[in-house]
Amino acid sequence: MTTQDFGSIDTRCVQGGYRPGNGEPRQIPIVQSTTFRYESADAMGKLFDLEASGYFYSRLQNPTTDTVAAKIAQLEGGSAAMLTSSGQAANFLAVFNLATAGDHVIVSTSIYGGTFNLFNVTMRKMGIDFTFIDPDCTDDEFRAAFRPNTKCVFGETIANPSLVVLDIERFARIAHENGVPLIVDNTFATPVKCRPFEWGADIVTHSTTKYIDGHGATVGGCIVDAGRFDWSAHADKFPGLCEPDPSYHGITYVERFGLGGAYIVKATAQLMRDFGVTQSPQSAFVLNLGLESLHLRMQRHCDNGLAVARYLKNHPKIEWVRYPGLEGDPYYDLACKYLPEGSCGVISFGIAGGREAANTFMEGLKIAAIETHVADARTCCLHPASTTHRQLTDEQLKECGISPSLVRFSCGIEASADLIADIEAALAAV
Ligand SMILES: *Cc1c(COP(=O)(O)O)cnc(C)c1O
Repeated sequence: MTTQDFGSIDTRCVQGGYRPGNGEPRQIPIVQSTTFRYESADAMGKLFDLEASGYFYSRLQNPTTDTVAAKIAQLEGGSAAMLTSSGQAANFLAVFNLATAGDHVIVSTSIYGGTFNLFNVTMRKMGIDFTFIDPDCTDDEFRAAFRPNTKCVFGETIANPSLVVLDIERFARIAHENGVPLIVDNTFATPVKCRPFEWGADIVTHSTTKYIDGHGATVGGCIVDAGRFDWSAHADKFPGLCEPDPSYHGITYVERFGLGGAYIVKATAQLMRDFGVTQSPQSAFVLNLGLESLHLRMQRHCDNGLAVARYLKNHPKIEWVRYPGLEGDPYYDLACKYLPEGSCGVISFGIAGGREAANTFMEGLKIAAIETHVADARTCCLHPASTTHRQLTDEQLKECGISPSLVRFSCGIEASADLIADIEAALAAV
């Protein structure tokens, strides 16, 4: 997969990843085939040995999914990318490609709950240790978390649902001082609003289920490599990339595929082969339809987010509002640096009257729907205290930074005046 230049981000959203030849389909073909025909066993053997490039089985690679991955690589400014079956699969492979039993990873506490559980429970069972750090800790506190067996640092550009903005440049600098890469989950910002590679991040992941698809139609994920981290300068830390792989006839990924290809080829050849968390060509096609309008939709999500946040800020029944693009927000300065053209459409706020008032409010909404989903074309909302976190007491909720009155409100791409009128009517009933 190569990165071709398709001009600005907007043009890359529409045309990136695919340039049809004379008489070829204008839209990307859905190659709905598990397998591919070869003239000789020898020709196919060369693919198995990674000596020639080509397709042989869609669990590893498929032309449709590769085309869409190439577009996301172009949007992020990366050297290579791969699609996965979900955002969870993307974050799992991204970390497991570097860290195995006996290794250690440093993670920002402000991340998606599903990712927290993946790391803190499931990957711990695989023998990987995790240290969670406050993203706003001092440089010295951050440095103190590193150990000789630390293999990477992980954070989210805009955290779901806390809306904390990561200081990517600082995180990248301290990760690099310690000889490890920074992985950033860029789901909420999308490459339209922030490109973490421009601030020093090394690997980007996405839950494409959110804004990139944007229509609530396909669960998916993506991993992109900037192709810049010098694995061979820290060869003792990354033997999986710098030493021969016995499961691939002694290939050394960095030698064979260079810094631009080694990470994604290894993740595909070893991890996709063994875990099979692949995205279907049909899903990748739908994802690409979403990508074609991502730049237009993100602007509307951000405009609606800011308009609704400003409205809520001045409402007497609203106790507090968190939105990184809102003047006075604790992350406003970081948002101005990393997200100067807008952040996302997600807002969190607290209603006076706690749990009960939050539920009355949400049930009164007519345009916004109650869903676990977020970052969709249709406005949706969620009350964590009575859904995703309902097993927790108010005391326990406080410990994980979620107040009983917190509502997560994900502005879609409808008219902002309609969203505000919907909120106004629902608040009047509280
Ligand atoms: C939803 C989400 C995920 C998980 O993605 P799935 O596609 O649901 O598996 C990971 N990271 C972030 C920031 C998310 O919002």
